[in-house]
Amino acid sequence: MNTLYGGIEAGGTKFVCAVGATPDDFRETRFPTTTTDETISRAIAFFRAQPRVAAIGIASFGPIDLHPDSLTFGYITTTPKPGWRNTDLAGAIRRALDVPVGFDTDVNAAALGEQRWGAARGLDTFIYLTIGTGIGGGGLVSGKLLHGLIHPEMGHIRLPHDFARDPFPGSCPFHGDCLEGLASGPALEKRWGQRAETLPADHSAWELQAHYLALALVNYVCALSPQRIILGGGVMEQPQLFPLIRREVQQLLGGYVQSPAIIENIDAYIVPPGLGKRAGVLGAIALAEIVT
Ligand code: ADP
Ligand code: ZN
Repeated sequence: MNTLYGGIEAGGTKFVCAVGATPDDFRETRFPTTTTDETISRAIAFFRAQPRVAAIGIASFGPIDLHPDSLTFGYITTTPKPGWRNTDLAGAIRRALDVPVGFDTDVNAAALGEQRWGAARGLDTFIYLTIGTGIGGGGLVSGKLLHGLIHPEMGHIRLPHDFARDPFPGSCPFHGDCLEGLASGPALEKRWGQRAETLPADHSAWELQAHYLALALVNYVCALSPQRIILGGGVMEQPQLFPLIRREVQQLLGGYVQSPAIIENIDAYIVPPGLGKRAGVLGAIALAEIVT
């Protein structure tokens, strides 16, 4: 029998906990993110009721502390989410269940899951972005998960913002019109006065959305040289976005980045997650695998 691993996708709105070994063989439960005590206790109770796992990976919303020698390693740190600031999430799980714990951002974990089982198999330098309630990006560079100073905050990059075309000032509480402030699900809802999922596929919202995402992507292409870009999250459930983004990325790069991946084969370069909505929780399981 395969070794079993545990995974926790710790999101700002819901937690998904899973036990398994591969994408075809795992069981999961999900529950809303409420108070720290209640939510972490529910996660612990789930794992206590399952066969013992070799390790647990936690794919967490952030910001989080990833420095192993820091006093607050494994904590969710400066989140604006009420009640969750300075929460020792990894420590609470490790102490209660007495197993090795892998801890990383939700998007780094999703990237790892995509490399293990999804759309990034065989690649060593690529990024995974989620466009949902927030915008976040993670990935691997030369085979290593991106950490560095803290961890990447790809959702908060600044973009040219043409106020004549788009007078919406942006919704990020820190930056106003950073990428997340212009292109997250809540930004779309504020700009257009209706939830993103209710905007028709031919609404001009999607051209503008593709424009902002393409601007962001060309910056990541130039800064990180990714071999592929995976776009997940609720907003990317709009399939018409992919061709719009691909075309504009090619236009914005202007033929300068001379790779067939971009010039000839962009349909395989900017792609949805191979694991679909399970990228996060399977990524958490992939994180568990690498700590053992
Ligand atoms: P989270 O980021 O909270 O983990 P999601 O990735 O599902 O969760 O993102 C939620 C956001 O995505 C909401 O702002 C919602 O309006 C938007 N969203 C969800 N489904 C769709 C859809 N089919 N089309 C466009 N936007 C969507
Ligand atoms: Zn911001």
